[in-house]
Amino acid sequence: MEIEFQRVGKKYETGQEALSQVSFHLQQGEMAFLTGHSGAGKSTLLKLIMMIERQSHGKIIIDGEDLLSLSRKYIPFHRRKVGVVFQNHQLLFDRSVFHNVALPLQVSGADPQHVAKRVRAALDKVGLLGKEKYNPMALSGGEQQRIGIARAVVNKPQLLLADEPTGNLDPRLSAEIMNLFQEFNRVGVTVLVASHDLSLIARMHHRVLTLNQGRIVNDGGFS
Ligand code: ADP
Ligand code: ADP
Repeated sequence: MEIEFQRVGKKYETGQEALSQVSFHLQQGEMAFLTGHSGAGKSTLLKLIMMIERQSHGKIIIDGEDLLSLSRKYIPFHRRKVGVVFQNHQLLFDRSVFHNVALPLQVSGADPQHVAKRVRAALDKVGLLGKEKYNPMALSGGEQQRIGIARAVVNKPQLLLADEPTGNLDPRLSAEIMNLFQEFNRVGVTVLVASHDLSLIARMHHRVLTLNQGRIVNDGGFS
């Protein structure tokens, strides 16, 4: 899935300008990092892609669609095409690993056999097959984050977004999580990861978009 930002700006109702004149193009199948200090606009940029927020200026084209031309009715379809991983993984502790990963599929009303097949495939990809019946609370921080990734990919999205996915993990686990994103990218998924962990990003050898006060100040190889 391809992403294009053309001179995109976002001003919140508070008057805070979170993004300004942001332009970049992420090709189908590309992997890139989004970095910058806290408050630089990373989450806002991801929220625009997910249509959680709408831009105030400029054009965003995703998968050939101009997001401003999409009606509200289309938003759930758009979201289903995008897998999202959060820092605090947003798992539900009142249900098993299996049911956490199955959530996005149950929303779209798939049949149980298909759901079970997809959930097992997603857990297999993150190395957690066999933990379906556990409560996520019983698993380690790294494993919990991998459940979050399995849930993000269970719909086989063509675009995977992550917002500080390694924020709570030690360096070794962080590297494992980044390697997982790389594996999804290898099979053709477009991946955009927001992270302020510069040493980790530098080791990954991918494109890095650097935001500073809402503007892209660097777009290139690993910095
Ligand atoms: P980052 O993810 O890089 O930390 P954010 O996109 O969260 O940056 O924030 C960019 C700027 O926009 C910050 O100044 C932040 O305070 C502001 N901001 C973020 N969300 C909102 C909101 N919902 N309402 C008002 N201001 C916001
Ligand atoms: P239980 O141990 O009572 O089955 P679970 O939460 O693990 O509790 O599962 C509840 C339901 O979810 C199962 O009855 C089944 O329909 C489905 N399910 C859970 N795990 C799997 C699995 N590994 N394969 C297929 N379906 C599963």
